[in-house]
Amino acid sequence: MLYSTALTAQNQALEEYKSGISERLQNLIARIAGAARSAGRPADEVRLLAVSKTWPAEAVRSAAAAGQQAFGENYVQEGVAKVEALAGLGLEWHFIGPLQSNKTRLVANHFAWVHSIDRLRIAQRLSEQRDVHLPPLQVCLQVNVSGEDSKSGVAPDELPALALAVAALPRLRLRGLMAIPEPTSDTALQRRRFAQLRQLRDALAAQGLVLDTLSMGMSDDLEAAIAEGSTMVRVGTAIFGARTYPAQGTAGPAAS
Ligand SMILES: *Cc1c(COP(=O)(O)O)cnc(C)c1O
Repeated sequence: MLYSTALTAQNQALEEYKSGISERLQNLIARIAGAARSAGRPADEVRLLAVSKTWPAEAVRSAAAAGQQAFGENYVQEGVAKVEALAGLGLEWHFIGPLQSNKTRLVANHFAWVHSIDRLRIAQRLSEQRDVHLPPLQVCLQVNVSGEDSKSGVAPDELPALALAVAALPRLRLRGLMAIPEPTSDTALQRRRFAQLRQLRDALAAQGLVLDTLSMGMSDDLEAAIAEGSTMVRVGTAIFGARTYPAQGTAGPAAS
């Protein structure tokens, strides 16, 4: 008796949560369009990647039903389980978390994009392991624009060599750069970090390597990122709510 009452309450909470996703998604899309307008850019230049890490497949299903197509995951095991559970929905899956060599095969064959490449060895493995029947894996290089504070990402001065080497790998298609600057409420600093990433992209273009993607901006700093040229914002909290366990993906080795 008690058990079924608890279950009913749980189901009700789940239903409320799911309808909230659709509303928050619509608000977010309006927020992105507003930021693009303020920056004098067409709204369709900025794609939304919904970051579903820590949230169940049902939450992704609700966002998909509300029209969202691209989803980002940080942890290999958790991400692969959702990719498989929702395989029929035609979603586009992006891997955005830290990636260790022993997990590259799963990522190479379950995701359409990887944003978090910061060393050649990982890129080589992804290229070797990508199924020949799949289209090339779309990749971004993660750059450490904040200096020593952040452990992940290639150093800006090592970026050109890495970019040229990755661009030459047969089963990858190098699309752009990604950054996760240090969290700050200082909007001038946010903009400076995102501008750094844009300038690195422009410097590569001047060397003949033209990249169309700047993966930058999250729930708390997407306006600054869009003002500095972001073409893909990665947003979790503003769609799915506050995560109940911390984002392991941004601090050291991930759990899976
Ligand atoms: C968790 C995460 C996000 C989303 O962050 P929110 O603040 O929840 O919007 C974006 N990018 C990466 C790499 C993440 O790990």
